[in-house]
Amino acid sequence: MKNCNIVQDLLTLYQEDMVSEESKTFIQEHLEECEMCKKTLENMQKTTSIAEDCVLSSTQKAEVRSLQKLQEKLKKGQVRFISLLLMLGCMLLGLSFVFQENLFFNALLMPFIGILGYVVFRWTALYMTPLILTFANLIINILANLQSIEMADFYSFAVWTGIFIIFVWMGILIAGLLHFAFGKEKRSEK
Ligand SMILES: [Zn+2]
Repeated sequence: MKNCNIVQDLLTLYQEDMVSEESKTFIQEHLEECEMCKKTLENMQKTTSIAEDCVLSSTQKAEVRSLQKLQEKLKKGQVRFISLLLMLGCMLLGLSFVFQENLFFNALLMPFIGILGYVVFRWTALYMTPLILTFANLIINILANLQSIEMADFYSFAVWTGIFIIFVWMGILIAGLLHFAFGKEKRSEK
């Protein structure tokens, strides 16, 4: 049939409904008579619907991905919350040891507190953790004074707080460097 070339040229436009009424009628009439052009149109429609499926599944994929990210965030939030509780518990434990002269244990406990601090605050732990530690130590000292367990003077309070902060900083640095090294390894794997 001689009109096939014209019809097939117009099929893309026809499919997108971008032809004039006149051309539309002409194409439709031709399609009724010509199996070959009808097949061509059917194939084009199939290809389009496959492409649409791909678009759909990519938006679905994006949805799944954002859901996974949310779950990851929630998980990280839980880890941080538990670390915070653990950190506060360790602080109270470690600081109360001052009165029992069991200080060697604190040389291990304070860096551990630093590591937990890094998990919770990342690098802001460098000042957040010492702040919390100083505050907790102050409270414990005041309580100890009220119960007159021991007269903790300001000088020893300041010295011990300073020593603890140095140990805490060591822990934060270790955690931060490990996190950096591990993160670098992870990135290079990709
Ligand atoms: Zn034809």
